[in-house]
Amino acid sequence: MTIEADPAVLRGLDNWRDLPASQQPEWRSAEELRAVTEELATYPPLVFAGEADKLREELAKASRGEAFLLQGGDCAETFAESTADNIRNKIRTILQMAVVLTYGASLPIIKMGRMAGQYAKPRSNTMEERDGVELPAYRGDAVNGHAFTPESRVPDPNRLLSSYHRSATTLNLIRAFTWGGFADLRRVHEWNRGFTSNPAYKRYEALAAEIDRAVRFMAAAGADFDALKTVDFYSSHEALLLDYERAMTRIDSRTGLPYNTSAHFLWIGERTREIDGAHVDLLSRVRNPIGVKLGPTTTPETALALQERLNPDGEPGRLTFITRMGAGRIREVLPDLLSAVAREGSPVTWVCDPMHGNTFASPSGYKTRRFDVVLDEVRGFFESHEQAGTVPGGLHVELTGDDVTEILGGGEDIDEGALSRRYETLVDPRLNHQQSLEMAFAVAEMLRG
Ligand code: PEP
Ligand code: MN
Repeated sequence: MTIEADPAVLRGLDNWRDLPASQQPEWRSAEELRAVTEELATYPPLVFAGEADKLREELAKASRGEAFLLQGGDCAETFAESTADNIRNKIRTILQMAVVLTYGASLPIIKMGRMAGQYAKPRSNTMEERDGVELPAYRGDAVNGHAFTPESRVPDPNRLLSSYHRSATTLNLIRAFTWGGFADLRRVHEWNRGFTSNPAYKRYEALAAEIDRAVRFMAAAGADFDALKTVDFYSSHEALLLDYERAMTRIDSRTGLPYNTSAHFLWIGERTREIDGAHVDLLSRVRNPIGVKLGPTTTPETALALQERLNPDGEPGRLTFITRMGAGRIREVLPDLLSAVAREGSPVTWVCDPMHGNTFASPSGYKTRRFDVVLDEVRGFFESHEQAGTVPGGLHVELTGDDVTEILGGGEDIDEGALSRRYETLVDPRLNHQQSLEMAFAVAEMLRG
């Protein structure tokens, strides 16, 4: 039986159109935008309501310390890089990190990619200057091109259709990899193939051998391994472009309720989380689990107001706060926020983004971060929760499965001279494959306490 939506609920989904919406592109043609969004609205959903519901339940567990979220992927996915190799390497990296965390902390790890839709970026500067020439900033492949020419930087609504198609092909491969055998826990060794020469990989290899032994023991004892063959891998992106997100919001026929079907999990960025703004309004009306980034200027009043607006019924797993305070600020700012929410707010899943508060420009002009500073923010996150008596629920990182040189330090000790070797990101710097594994080993120890 199909349940129809309440007409008032349907009307509400367009309420954001009358509200201030920050960080929206100046599309080259309103007519084209209308045609594109009408077309998008006819496309099949990319994810299903039942999957979003399952994720909500898992995030509820993370809020209670019964699971831990690992969310990772590019700052900005690009169409050109959405290749099979790239996607496989990212999935493999996240699966390896998850194994390290699961084994190290004896906790179920919720696996989520900043993948299959992370194509739009908010920008602090709307213009970019190079050698005296000024052009509109790159806003992600969903909006304009990265090439520094006036033509490429014009926001083109047709890119929203490409975003949908790229998201669909990416998600298809994610589903194939995670349900088709690649993610089978009995293949932990294979994910590491070719990478055993450095310390993080050696350490992973030793852990994989332990897991192998445990699996063989259980097999000999007659255990059933169906649970090891597949993994649930969720998609997520910043819900930035409201025309796209609205077109992908559909009514679930089982319940008559709206779900954003462009990803399982959507988050509102630090720059677009105005309490009376369009982003908060649209996401307040969908049933997906959602997140909000909270920077170092967030007051307890703001956090509580966001909770009231986005999770008025206090449903566990519905709302995740992703804090990105900066390693230098987190110990001073976060504990008060945690205590205030614990005292007056409803359940929330607290996740640490140790990336976005720690970005700086190297003398040679690369946007970078220091591995030890990133790790220190995670440590500050755990310390703050310890102090407030609250639960650290997850980690949100920018990473790639490849051997890029974008973040300083780590076991390979990437220095400023090395940044130029493989600096490939179009927006923010990412942990490379090895740094990601190192991070997982370090966080597993923090989780163990
Ligand atoms: C991001 O996650 O890439 C981002 C822009 O983060 P924030 O909104 O926290 O600055
Ligand atoms: Mn980023």
